[in-house]
Amino acid sequence: MIRRSSCDVLVLGGGPAGLSAALAAARAGAEVALVEREDCLGGILKQCVHDGFGLLRFGEGLAGPEYARRFIDEALASGRIRVHLEAFVHAARRVEVGEGAGGFFVLECLSQTEGVFELEAPALILATGCRERTDRQVWIHGDRPAGVMTAGLAQQLVNIQGLLPGRRAVILGSGDIGLIMARRLLLEGMEVEGVYEVRPEPSGLNRNIQQCLVDFGIGLHLSTTVTEVHGARRVEAVTVAEVDSRGQARQGTERLVPCDTLILSVGLIPENEVAASIGLGLDPATKGPRVDQGGASEIPGVYVCGNALHVNDLVDYVSESGELAGKGAAAFALALAQGRPPPGRSLIPLKAGPGFLYALPQVLDLAAPGPALLWFRSNSTLKDGATVRLRAGEAILLERRYSALRPPEMERLELDLQAVPPGTASLVLEFERREAGHG
Ligand SMILES: Cc1cc2nc3c(=O)[nH]c(=O)nc-3n(C[C@H](O)[C@H](O)[C@H](O)COP(=O)(O)OP(=O)(O)OC[C@H]3O[C@@H](n4cnc5c(N)ncnc54)[C@H](O)[C@@H]3O)c2cc1C
Repeated sequence: MIRRSSCDVLVLGGGPAGLSAALAAARAGAEVALVEREDCLGGILKQCVHDGFGLLRFGEGLAGPEYARRFIDEALASGRIRVHLEAFVHAARRVEVGEGAGGFFVLECLSQTEGVFELEAPALILATGCRERTDRQVWIHGDRPAGVMTAGLAQQLVNIQGLLPGRRAVILGSGDIGLIMARRLLLEGMEVEGVYEVRPEPSGLNRNIQQCLVDFGIGLHLSTTVTEVHGARRVEAVTVAEVDSRGQARQGTERLVPCDTLILSVGLIPENEVAASIGLGLDPATKGPRVDQGGASEIPGVYVCGNALHVNDLVDYVSESGELAGKGAAAFALALAQGRPPPGRSLIPLKAGPGFLYALPQVLDLAAPGPALLWFRSNSTLKDGATVRLRAGEAILLERRYSALRPPEMERLELDLQAVPPGTASLVLEFERREAGHG
């Protein structure tokens, strides 16, 4: 017989999203169980020792562990959050109690300290973060010797385990983690030969290009990629080549770059295996489940937040999305516990017009209280800016002028739901460009 305990709200993931969600649910009066596979809370922030976290929320540039600590201390002191560490959730399932009587969610957990156990609750929050793309997801010929690793693994080796991954690194991809690791490896004594980016523009934030590469004299090679890895047991060199507008290597531009480490910073993907196990479909644009502005998914009682929803650029936004999911999940669970129906919803789709990478949330609940936060990313760089409009048919509900838009930067809008005309069937986000950049 598998041991099972129950609570009001289950939170899967102990990163900044899960911590904020658990705290918000506990503050609303829910009994919470939080499950985390690692041996301490904080998620990926534990290995982010550089500063710059919490500028929006706290007005301070904290290091990742400092930012996480503020939430961990409060969570542990709340008395309403039971934390299960070193507990891996391999699946979730929904159990129906009987026709019309609702049901609950069960998390199936495997733990070194607690063995196999299950947790059940009427509401479930998925805060599983994201994972890094690997060399299998980018097209590189050649050998697979030791010394090829993702930027996140290099970050873990250096910042948590105190190990240098090699002596001379090439970095493929200009995502933020790669940029931050370029600087970190240099400061720790490695030579960083350069950062190679297949696209014609960097994929990381401008502030990281300046602070991590320019300030340290590390070269950024745009429209250039690694085409081959050389080495038997250990990386000995890589071939780099310029690419054309279709991403194909230009013949004659190949160059051999001696190095013993190839760091991949080629993108993050929301982690949603547990979401899939309960049948949540994913939005192909965000790679996360479809939700409303409170993080409520298509399955009543399941909420999603943080990087599991879409890859966020700032941790402050991750915490904000956790809070919304935590409040919503607590309201759902406590209503059921008190024999009331969960808060009713009145959903309309939010569509992104041409030129957007995506808009979030995918649906808006017009019955929810308060203003709704909307997010979007443009699918190309608009150096000369654009005007973004939110339309309900002919009515313009929001209009904002941006001096520039770049895909790595998330943009945030606040919509007063009272402004949505009665009978509106859908909202559309669209923009007028002055001049299009490359896509
Ligand atoms: C390698 C890496 C480095 C990053 N560096 C930066 C940076 O320098 N600056 C920055 O602003 N952002 C960085 N980010 C982005 C960062 O992920 C977000 O800012 C923020 O930490 C996301 O919070 P989260 O809670 O959604 O996810 P996470 O912090 O990733 O937390 C998710 C948690 O869920 C747990 N989990 C997942 N699945 C399971 C399961 N099945 N069972 C049990 N537990 C599970 C994980 O162990 C993890 O602790 C980085 C991301 C990665 C992947």
